[in-house]
Amino acid sequence: MIVTIEDLEKSKDGVLFFDFEDTPEGIDLKEPAKAKFTVKKLGEGFINVTGTINAKVNVVCDNCLKNFVYEVNTKIDETYAEDSLYDEYKDETEIKDNFFAIDLNGEGKIDLTDLIYQSVILSLPNKFVCDINCNGSEVINKYIKTELQDPRLEIFKTIKTEKDN
Ligand SMILES: [Zn+2]
Repeated sequence: MIVTIEDLEKSKDGVLFFDFEDTPEGIDLKEPAKAKFTVKKLGEGFINVTGTINAKVNVVCDNCLKNFVYEVNTKIDETYAEDSLYDEYKDETEIKDNFFAIDLNGEGKIDLTDLIYQSVILSLPNKFVCDINCNGSEVINKYIKTELQDPRLEIFKTIKTEKDN
């Protein structure tokens, strides 16, 4: 999904609303990602994009190697500069303290699909765990069993038995 500055200028009050599904390349999605964006012209050559993204990503558990779906729900708030701000600084330019704008270099359009891609990638954790109760691989299970043979841990076995009954 691409939004052009021309579309934005033609729109009422310089605001466009997007509610769509998209499948950015490079992410293994279970189903198309859902995005809701508000694209707003700020004047003085700046455009602000806010919204939410929901994506279900196919991943592999780092504990037990099982395939599962990791759900990303993320909010975005990005500001773009229509024209190159300073030639010596490319991509992201700090305009004021803590205010960054992504340089469009006069291209006249914002790639919302790429925005989804970047946001989903940044939302993924370093380590995937399929479930908080994931028992891990056989190697890890063997280790835990050995540990439970320690008499001091006998109490845990008792608790488990009572629960099972
Ligand atoms: Zn797992």
